[in-house]
Amino acid sequence: EFLRKATLVRRYGAAVIVMAFDEQGQATSVEDRVRICRRVYRLLTEQVGMPPVDIIFDPNILTVATGIEEHNEYAINFIEATRQIKEVCPGAKVSGGVSNISFSFRGNEPVRRAMHSAFLYHAIRAGLDMGIVNPGQLDVYEEIPPDLLERVEDVLLNRRPDATERLVDFAITVKDAGGKDETVELVWREGTVQERLSHALVKGIVAHIEEDAEEARSQYDLCLSIIEGPLMDGMNTVGELFGAGKMFLPQVVKSARVMKKAVAYLLPFMEEEKARSGETHKARAKLLLATVKGDVHDIGKNIVGVVLGCNNYEVIDLGVMVSCDKILEAAREKEVDIIGLSGLITPSLDEMIYVAREMERTGNELPLLIGGATTSAKHTAVKIAPAYHQSIVHVLDASRCVGIVDQLLNPASREKFDKKNRETQQQLVASFEKRQSVKLVPYKEVCAKRFQIDWNAANIDRPSSLGRRVLDDFPLDEIRRYIDWSPFFSTWEMKGKYPAIFDDPVRGEAARKLYDEAIELLDEILDKRLLTARGVYGIWPAASEGDDIIVYTDESRSVEATRFHTLRQQWERKGQKVFYALADFIAPVDSGREDYLGAFAVTTGVGCDELVEKFKADHDDYNAIMVKALADRLAEAFTELLHERVRKEWGFGVDESLSNEELITEKYRGIRPAPGYPAQPDHTEKRILFDLLEVEPTIGITLTENFAMHPAASVSGLYFAHPESRYFAVDRITRDQVASYAERKGMTVAEVERWLAPNLGYEP
Ligand code: SAH
Repeated sequence: EFLRKATLVRRYGAAVIVMAFDEQGQATSVEDRVRICRRVYRLLTEQVGMPPVDIIFDPNILTVATGIEEHNEYAINFIEATRQIKEVCPGAKVSGGVSNISFSFRGNEPVRRAMHSAFLYHAIRAGLDMGIVNPGQLDVYEEIPPDLLERVEDVLLNRRPDATERLVDFAITVKDAGGKDETVELVWREGTVQERLSHALVKGIVAHIEEDAEEARSQYDLCLSIIEGPLMDGMNTVGELFGAGKMFLPQVVKSARVMKKAVAYLLPFMEEEKARSGETHKARAKLLLATVKGDVHDIGKNIVGVVLGCNNYEVIDLGVMVSCDKILEAAREKEVDIIGLSGLITPSLDEMIYVAREMERTGNELPLLIGGATTSAKHTAVKIAPAYHQSIVHVLDASRCVGIVDQLLNPASREKFDKKNRETQQQLVASFEKRQSVKLVPYKEVCAKRFQIDWNAANIDRPSSLGRRVLDDFPLDEIRRYIDWSPFFSTWEMKGKYPAIFDDPVRGEAARKLYDEAIELLDEILDKRLLTARGVYGIWPAASEGDDIIVYTDESRSVEATRFHTLRQQWERKGQKVFYALADFIAPVDSGREDYLGAFAVTTGVGCDELVEKFKADHDDYNAIMVKALADRLAEAFTELLHERVRKEWGFGVDESLSNEELITEKYRGIRPAPGYPAQPDHTEKRILFDLLEVEPTIGITLTENFAMHPAASVSGLYFAHPESRYFAVDRITRDQVASYAERKGMTVAEVERWLAPNLGYEP
């Protein structure tokens, strides 16, 4: 019968797929599979005259991990049979129905996908030519999480007697990604204490960490061995996965929280041990981190601290607004190995240069790390590195810090790393110098080429009311609707637009989880009123005079309340004909028109510090960072809400009806530039803004000596209503503008040069 049908097939010129069955049934052992295929090969090639290339064997892919011991060899038998068949049946091909292998994991997609990929990986190496598989049920072999892969391969290659059990246990946790299924939870709880500790760390689960740490204590002689054994092993896994892009920052911070809680639990016992054994836990090295004097922003610094902590570095975090003296003193006293400086506002750049100089002056030899939003590799190379002879390294984000610190502290790599760093910095300096030669048009000329609005024709709205208004304890649930979530993900170093980020094949799941947990905390903050929103804003009669903006106390326009100073572009970019300053958007004094300027300051950071402290006391950096990130989001959202409200009160926005997305993309009329931003890079203008609005006495935001707002979750700025007002960057300016600006502000040239250091187009 077999030969009859084979002859028919041959007559039509078709190829055949032959399954490894014979009169006795389906072959399962290697010998049977090979024997049957060999027999078929002979029959087909010798008796039917079929060319070997038209013969495809299917030596039976059978389900493994069924709980029946004989099945444990099915996968490895297939692979070995394939190898032998390819040898003894030259020219023939081998195929198989791949998804059968994972049939016992029906319903568990992650495990099935991993099994298919791993099986294919090994079978193809043994000679498998083709297979039947749902392409949607495949993972990239390289990207299968190592812990899952290990268990999957244990099963497929039959590497250990308990392979099936372990994969079944693990499978439930893999499915557990949502974390909601309680039966799932129970199963990972059945592993050994080492397995549970490792699982809790990798998955960031704090629920049972103290009970597991306690149980571990009964098994280990020293608590130190628990830390340096299973806990460090778990954290190493986390570090590796993060380094390989297989884990994301929020997950790492959650793992760190588990570690911290375990260590906190063990700490009191370790004190006793220390007395008994004299042994203490040794970190790889000590790092000192600080946000520099005059600056209050620390989310990035805190994240870096957590990531370094995860990698067994001891981090001494001096907090925010830390003077150079304090930094250097603490570095000496604690005998640290590296100093890391952080800052967000531009004046912090100068402070960092100062710290570098002081390190040089005092004969310091420690490497210096530079990080934070306004810092850059270029600024570090051009301005900071020349001030200090030791390695100064710019750290772009938390994902880089461990690699950098490892290389700096390892005597074997240090020299090479430093050399490379210096070379890169030289290139950056060269590129900076090239850019220095851009054409800056003299101040007088750019004033003549200012941006012109036809004020005679301009339609200026008269606001419905003038003067200040305070919004105390503004409802957070109204504010929350205005949140722009995209920057929230970049805070956690997961770049992507909300909500599309949830569909990202790589980060989507982690992003969703982060978001869900953020919403959970946000709900709690709103329910329990843990943060308070306060704002003050106002609109005043105003006129421009040259590059200044005069603000009048009332509509008689006879008394100046205050005066803002603006800076004008001087850098002539290709094709640029007009040069902007914010003053251009306000009708000049002599235009005969009555114009207006608005101003605002808001904070949602009232209560933030207390909440952060509470989380920190609970060893919960994850939520401590989350609170700050959420407070920042609320501050920006409040700013958006208030701006919308002001446009309505001003008149021109009454008919406006924009979605949150349209608000985020600024589809409205007018702008709200903030001092310290590109259109007005001078942070000292915040002082004038704060006095006009009486910010400190009414809503309590304060300014540091470098004009950072405290609490950090605060925003302030000016409102311009003219439809042609727009954001721009002042960028480089020349000495003549600095001189004019200094005179108008009543400052010395040197003072202005200090505040505008990053904008100077010349060496002061
Ligand atoms: N949706 C964002 C909004 C903040 S960023 C968030 O939630 O984070 C946009 C703001 O930055 C603007 O509204 C303005 O206040 C400020 N800004 C942007 N570019 C600027 C520029 N060139 N000059 C001055 N301020 C600018």
